[in-house]
Amino acid sequence: MSDCKNDGCGRRHALTLFWATALASGVGAVLGAGPALAKTSQAAAGYRNSPKGRQSCANCSWFEAPAGCGVVKGPVSARGWCALWG
Ligand code: SF4
Repeated sequence: MSDCKNDGCGRRHALTLFWATALASGVGAVLGAGPALAKTSQAAAGYRNSPKGRQSCANCSWFEAPAGCGVVKGPVSARGWCALWG
């Protein structure tokens, strides 16, 4: 039985959330009604101001120093983390 305590479960959730966001914004872009990739709210991404183990914004591929993120809205901390980490 899966208990979502391993990183694989979190990654599946993150990928699902990412692709849902990408597909939704892709439809908007095709229709000329929005940006190519809308960012997800911090709440929806499960963002927090502390790392998850060794995972943090600082070592996430989406991080845009000093305090930006390519997929999550608003300023983020280099020591933060969310479910879209990757
Ligand atoms: S963990 Fe990655 S995707 Fe999540 S807020 Fe930080 S930089 Fe963005």
